[in-house]
Amino acid sequence: MSERPQAPRGTFDVLPEQSALRLTVESAARRTLEAAGYRRIETPAFEDTDVFRRTVGESTDIVQKEMYTFTDGGGRSLTLRPEVTAPIMRAYLEHGMHKLAQPVKLWYLSSCFRYERAQAGRYRQFWQIGAEAIGSDDPAVDAESILLLHALLGELGVRGVRLRLASLGTAASRARYRELLQAHLRAHEDRLSDEVRERIDLNPLRAFDSDHPGTREVMASAPLLLDHLDAEDAEHFAQVQELLRTAEIPFELDPALVRGLDYYTRTVFEFTSDALGAQSGVGGGGRYDGLAEELGGPPTPGMGWAAGVERMLLAAEERPVPEPVCDLYVALAGEAPELRATAFALAAEARRAQVPAQLELAGRSLKGQMKQAGRLGARYVAILGDDGIALKDMESGEQETVASPSAVVAHVLRGRHPG
Ligand code: AMP
Repeated sequence: MSERPQAPRGTFDVLPEQSALRLTVESAARRTLEAAGYRRIETPAFEDTDVFRRTVGESTDIVQKEMYTFTDGGGRSLTLRPEVTAPIMRAYLEHGMHKLAQPVKLWYLSSCFRYERAQAGRYRQFWQIGAEAIGSDDPAVDAESILLLHALLGELGVRGVRLRLASLGTAASRARYRELLQAHLRAHEDRLSDEVRERIDLNPLRAFDSDHPGTREVMASAPLLLDHLDAEDAEHFAQVQELLRTAEIPFELDPALVRGLDYYTRTVFEFTSDALGAQSGVGGGGRYDGLAEELGGPPTPGMGWAAGVERMLLAAEERPVPEPVCDLYVALAGEAPELRATAFALAAEARRAQVPAQLELAGRSLKGQMKQAGRLGARYVAILGDDGIALKDMESGEQETVASPSAVVAHVLRGRHPG
């Protein structure tokens, strides 16, 4: 026999139990975000490669080595989305959403694709829940956005949550700071890792992420961006912090917080969970006031975050898998073709009346059918025989004769809603 194909490395099948758990994450996100005025958006799974090249940043790991980029039949370069913020900004501009009341608040649940080293909590296809508020630079937008992710993690029972916060300033203050940092790195070039040394020009901020001992020593005395913010950025950041304190959301300032995407400005943040191993980030984001311009749009402020569905589930308290409901099981106590037709029609009628119903489909004996009804947790079993329909209440064990299929449905409906 030839080898059986398997799911590609770094991907996984969402089996029914998992699917039920993931639905609880989706519902919690919908509740939390829609209560704050966010509405759901869906963008295509792939975009013109430029959408990510121009925004995520040429020098980032994502663009340099993680994108699934391909050429389609028409010779266009397309990329499976590695993240969803740039596609949403693309959609905001494409659909003229600046004409709507600002900020436009959008949320999503979307698959993302990154060619990463696969390990627990890190996959090549994964799902993100995210929220974007586009069109206002009010610090309250930043604080509210962070508060909503905090609320979602709380609702899901994510354990050991910590929030780290920083400000990257605006492009101008960042550019000035970059020069200071580059000067510091060059002054200590001989102690840096090769990778960091090669990136002094391209992306000096990434030096903060390095595990290399020499680099870490050099970074311990590096100038910090938080100490070099413009007065306006510093004031904006102070207000964000004040609002978070008012909302009683604990946070730590982390001057070395560098997110892996180039488009962030001002506020950046990350939630981690102590319940996760090396991949401890559950969700994060920040402000991206320059993103719209990178996509050829007018200056448009924006703020948002993304959180990994799989990471949130890994870090959350165990919760019971919601069982599928079966209120009525339709069993056959005879083999006449008319009985089978009646059974089929009864199950369909029950479902039309919003009664979850299942039909015997595997040719089991009556005993086997009753067992199967028990396994499904059926509330009632309708037993169709040559002399009519018997309806068994599986809780009390009582059985009574019922006149017609409609009477079965009526009885089950009454039984489900006592009184
Ligand atoms: P990022 O866009 O890299 O800031 O990621 C936002 C969130 O998505 C992270 O905090 C993780 O929860 C999740 N995430 C990112 N990359 C992966 C991955 N390869 N596999 C699973 N989850 C991921």
